[in-house]
Amino acid sequence: MYMINFSLNQAGVFDPRDYQEDGLNKIMHHLSNTFIKGICEPAFVEYSVGYGKTGIYAFIARKVTEGNRLRAFKGKSTFKVLVIARQTELIDQNSKFAWSSGVPNTVVASDLNKGKNAKNIKLQNVVFATEQTLWNRIESGMFDNWTPDLVLIDECHQLDWKDIVKWAKGDQGESCKSKTYTKVILHLLNKNPKTQIIGGTGSPWRMNEWIKGNFWKSCIDRKNTEDLINAGWLVPIQWGVPDVEYDYSSVKHDYSQNAELSESELDDIATKDLSLTHSIMREIVENSKNRRGVLIFCAGRHHIVEAKESLIESGVPESQIGVITDSTGYKVRTDILDRAREGNCKYVLNIGVLTAGVNVPLWDHIALLRPMGSVVMFTQSVGRVLRLCDGKEDALVSDYAGCVERLGLITDQKMFADGVYKKASAKKRIRICGLCETENAKQAIKCRNETCDRWFIDPSICENTVNDNQQCSHKNAPSARMCGGCGGLLRDPNEALNGKHYTEDMLKPIVGMQMFAPNKKEVVMEYHFEDGFIAREQFYPYRTGQVPKWQLQKWTDFLKEHAIDELALADIKACKNTFELVQVSHLFRTPNSATYRDKKGKQAGRFHIVSLKRFGNDLIKNGVAA
Ligand SMILES: [Zn+2]
Ligand SMILES: [Zn+2]
Repeated sequence: MYMINFSLNQAGVFDPRDYQEDGLNKIMHHLSNTFIKGICEPAFVEYSVGYGKTGIYAFIARKVTEGNRLRAFKGKSTFKVLVIARQTELIDQNSKFAWSSGVPNTVVASDLNKGKNAKNIKLQNVVFATEQTLWNRIESGMFDNWTPDLVLIDECHQLDWKDIVKWAKGDQGESCKSKTYTKVILHLLNKNPKTQIIGGTGSPWRMNEWIKGNFWKSCIDRKNTEDLINAGWLVPIQWGVPDVEYDYSSVKHDYSQNAELSESELDDIATKDLSLTHSIMREIVENSKNRRGVLIFCAGRHHIVEAKESLIESGVPESQIGVITDSTGYKVRTDILDRAREGNCKYVLNIGVLTAGVNVPLWDHIALLRPMGSVVMFTQSVGRVLRLCDGKEDALVSDYAGCVERLGLITDQKMFADGVYKKASAKKRIRICGLCETENAKQAIKCRNETCDRWFIDPSICENTVNDNQQCSHKNAPSARMCGGCGGLLRDPNEALNGKHYTEDMLKPIVGMQMFAPNKKEVVMEYHFEDGFIAREQFYPYRTGQVPKWQLQKWTDFLKEHAIDELALADIKACKNTFELVQVSHLFRTPNSATYRDKKGKQAGRFHIVSLKRFGNDLIKNGVAA
């Protein structure tokens, strides 16, 4: 299965697909730079499901080791490449693909080395290893005379780069045990400080933090699901229009973060009304008549039982239904997926476990009966049904949980806009773009016409620096947290001006502070400087709906600095609108001094950035509600 979509070249081995060629060139360009400079500069690529990362590792290894015979002939040492992954399945798959791409290699993974003299394997120039076995073999001396020039790390977000940085600096603090990946990387860098490190991942986030930073210095290339659909390497999406839906609006969750939803809460909601589940499952069966494999995401362990029973009541034979949860054993799970691959198990139900790493090309219908916690999780799940397969023209995505509507507010990806539009147009809830006259969903944030740049609400513009020191400038949904352009973390556009660039000698004395509430949702702080200047800061503590993340953060930060004490903070937080807020303005501290500067853009001249506040004991005397 893993060889699908690759064609053999004249030498009888696999070659990269066209878009992989492009990625390979970027990676090789990076490597030739760092090899010449003789420095270690770890970098990663972000490739969505279906890109064929497996192929990339093999092709990089092939390119790097290509000149080996010539080097050996000239008496130079040959290039060595080490590919590391955590899961045995991935190592197995990657190694096999490399062989069929003309790259002789050795596997170092305890599960795959059984029956051989595992501790004494002859190592080829390319080695595929699991993290743990690799460390064991390093300790037993198997790698003493084999030092890689290049290390490729699959699913590189699993590597705890903070741990590596800590140990590399020697300030690991209390912890006396480093992680296995840390030991491996530091050992290799110790042996050869010029080791090159390239990571590959579908989601460059770890604990809600972008991995680019102190360890991973740059992101070399990105391809998301939409890019791959456009390039024809994934099938296009056909959005379903459900008759009925579950109502998950009561779920409190920050969908801009990469966090999991509470399964029991979802389970409760989805099992409230059995007749709803009945009609949804009937509709799924009806819409799957011409489909070959259906992947269903259920809310929880009670819901999945009800869903299965509803399928049987709708006339599906039990043998065609597979149920996979996190407590399903490896053997049962493998059996269900194998049968699904052969077309002998049409409906596979799961509770959030089949989001990544599972490859069943026959799947051509996904039904979401639960919300997806983030854009990444949604894309990964939907990616399961987008793989190319003979006779497959598209994949049906049936959203019974309001996923696209919710996530469509925090991403500018066109596939979400299309999904939202399809569902909205069925309910006649549309708006026409004033620029290009394209029909959009009423709640659209941006025109879905790709050639049109009309935003229906102000986008937040990315200020991250990307390759060649240019600003990314990608326009994002105002409440997005990850940039759709560079994949990085979005910040308050004014944050760069807050604090960092100010020095103590720029501090100006303040003689008073006043708080105004122009309306119930907006509050303005006025700082009266001794030099006569009046600076204003504006906050929206009670705004609902589209609130940029940084705006809420700004208010939280303000409270942290200005609340007199914990009790005051509790009283302030008990306020329900800004009119109530100004009544407790005596609970806010006034700074002795601060720096101020004009804001940029539309707010120039009206609002300011007040930073580096220094506090005394003065309180506000005149809180006034307008
Ligand atoms: Zn338009
Ligand atoms: Zn960006």
